[in-house]
Amino acid sequence: MHHTPAATASVAAFLMRIAVISDIHSNLHALEAVLTDIEAEAADEIWCLGDVVGYGPRPNECADIVRERAAVVLVGNHDLAAIGKLPTSDFGPLAAESAHWTAGALGEEQATWLRTLEPSATREGLELYHGSARDPVWEYVLSEDVALENLEVTTAPIVLVGHSHVALALSWDGETLDGGLAHGGTEVDTSGARWLINPGSVGQPRDSDARAGWVLIDTDAGRAAFRRVPYPIDQTQAEMRAAGLPEDLATRLARGV
Ligand code: ZN
Repeated sequence: MHHTPAATASVAAFLMRIAVISDIHSNLHALEAVLTDIEAEAADEIWCLGDVVGYGPRPNECADIVRERAAVVLVGNHDLAAIGKLPTSDFGPLAAESAHWTAGALGEEQATWLRTLEPSATREGLELYHGSARDPVWEYVLSEDVALENLEVTTAPIVLVGHSHVALALSWDGETLDGGLAHGGTEVDTSGARWLINPGSVGQPRDSDARAGWVLIDTDAGRAAFRRVPYPIDQTQAEMRAAGLPEDLATRLARGV
């Protein structure tokens, strides 16, 4: 037996450790903290489930970094609003105000890039959606019923969703739906069942933990590890106030809601 160059290449191309991020929302300090944590975990690739911009003060820097660093990037509802592909009449008043601010602040190069993105993607063994499989742009997966309905219309062993800003790990073995909220430090065995996983939000967490969230999926070991990373929230808040973004969007960051 001898090792051919082709065999070596196929082994090298097999993904093992995927860092999944979502809902960055123009929060540069949160994104930088998460990228430092991802580097420490030696992930093979970074995948982003969308909403790179909206709400926060640094849309162009976040877009440039995600474009350069992530191998897969989905588009989210806030990204679509910022490039005029989704009407802000569907948004709440604060989200609409920040969407208009973002549309004005977004550079042409960043807007052009966002226009190329789709709200869903498929990779071997994984399906990726910003919102859900049924509605990749708008549906929130926040209940067991909605999670199950979305597992029923998908087939991949692991379904990744973002959009709700709440970290989730739900398993389905064909009979029982198990799991729920995935706090920082949660690790789950992804073998032996199908999983619906939300990494939580980098830039605007809403599960009462203000730290930036992401998840490391190890497809070889069959494990998912939920991470939370502290970042200088006060710096992002100061930038939001300087930009004239709504005060409520700044204060909520410190509460993780
Ligand atoms: Zn979002």
